[in-house]
Amino acid sequence: MASWDNFCVNPVSKSDLYRKLPSVDEFVRGAQLQAAIARDGRAAVTAAARAVLERARLEIGRGGLDQDAIDLLVADLAHAVECELRTSIGYSLRPVINATGVILHTNLGRAPLARSAIENIAHTAAGYSNLEFDLDSGERGKRDAHVDRLFRQLFQEGPGSISTIVVNNNAAAVWLALNTLAAGGEVIVSRGELVEIGGSFRIPDVMQQSNAILREVGTTNRTRIGDYEQAISDKTRVLLRVHRSNFEITGFTEQPALEELVALARARDIPLVEDLGSGAILDLRSVGIAGETGVGESLRTGVDVVTYSGDKLLGGPQAGMLTGRADLIRRMRRNSLFRALRVDKLTYSALEATLLAYVKGEHDAIPALSMMRLSKDAIEARATRVSGHLQASGIKVEAIDGESLIGGGAAPSATLPTHLLTVTVNGLSAEQLQVRLRALELPIIARVQEGRVVLDLRTVPAEQDDALVRGLKEAAGTVRD
Ligand SMILES: *Cc1c(COP(=O)(O)O)cnc(C)c1O
Repeated sequence: MASWDNFCVNPVSKSDLYRKLPSVDEFVRGAQLQAAIARDGRAAVTAAARAVLERARLEIGRGGLDQDAIDLLVADLAHAVECELRTSIGYSLRPVINATGVILHTNLGRAPLARSAIENIAHTAAGYSNLEFDLDSGERGKRDAHVDRLFRQLFQEGPGSISTIVVNNNAAAVWLALNTLAAGGEVIVSRGELVEIGGSFRIPDVMQQSNAILREVGTTNRTRIGDYEQAISDKTRVLLRVHRSNFEITGFTEQPALEELVALARARDIPLVEDLGSGAILDLRSVGIAGETGVGESLRTGVDVVTYSGDKLLGGPQAGMLTGRADLIRRMRRNSLFRALRVDKLTYSALEATLLAYVKGEHDAIPALSMMRLSKDAIEARATRVSGHLQASGIKVEAIDGESLIGGGAAPSATLPTHLLTVTVNGLSAEQLQVRLRALELPIIARVQEGRVVLDLRTVPAEQDDALVRGLKEAAGTVRD
């Protein structure tokens, strides 16, 4: 009888197997885990031990472990707990090497901060600061004073007074502008600018949440100044211009010049708000990118309020700026929800340091800008060195010309010429290599193009070239030491 034979061959019941596992208490009291407890604390080790034993029990329950496998597992339990601890109390948010060539990569944290910004965070965050304290008068101060003075230096040109307030991100800035200036009234926008950014920021939705009524004019591809003019009524509170951050409309198109919108807004005494999104402070023509209006340019043209992000082309921390006519900005600061959107001292520390770099003309101190300013030759020189190291350890590398992307909703077609390395490893598909690169202690994020992993050193800081080589060798399985 087959069933009887089976029973004889495998006489150990599941409950015998379960009994081989120690209890959580017994295990945690054991000598093997004392070093881990001293290092990581009893609570964390107990939780890890519980998780490991729970997994072992599940495995026994599924019939996946026989007696020998259980013996091996029990002998190795302490090691399993160490592995569990590494993920459970290790950082989840960690650095990666961005070899994609997308400078403002939204999924990879957008703009890396300037060294001075990081130092200033450490400097002010460890103790108390004058965040809302006026050291001259000894009275309560305003937190925006710290950066408003620098924005003024960067943008103040004409006679009218310009000021800036800072909120959590540009989405919040757009909401605050519309809610303050247009709640209960109408906002006129071109149908060609009803954008969606990153799946959750949609102009019509933000408009609805701000209690303003969207008044669409024109068509997807053509809107004329006359369309705005005809839509203006006594309900109109704002003319809104939105930057087409992540798409372009080409072909039979028309959009009024910013000057025309300014003239119309002035003539009818209606504020013109521009959601610039990316918000360049440095003129991008200096790196060969045309057609991207900067914040200063919009203000000089006469836009009343400009909104833009801190961590896109500005190259600073996540934040949303509202810069413009002082009387309008004052109204926004008085909005009762401003407090819910304001930023903390860490953001101000980083933002102030970043703005100081602009004021001093130290553009290369801002990583996003220095990456944009990097020449193709400089990238090629580093790529040649990296390529040499990789080839020496048996990885196939080929150099090709390509393009880096600005990203972050800046200039959708703005690309910079670059020098790429394509990498192939025998016995590994591009996707398999990509998975291994992501699994490294310092993960490497790279693109795959035509079946090959592609590296763009434009977004890799030169100090990380060696770490990149080490990571690639490890992923390719060619590490010898
Ligand atoms: C990026 C972008 C936003 C959203 O900015 P966040 O800082 O990500 O909130 C809004 N409008 C435009 C035009 C953008 O490009």
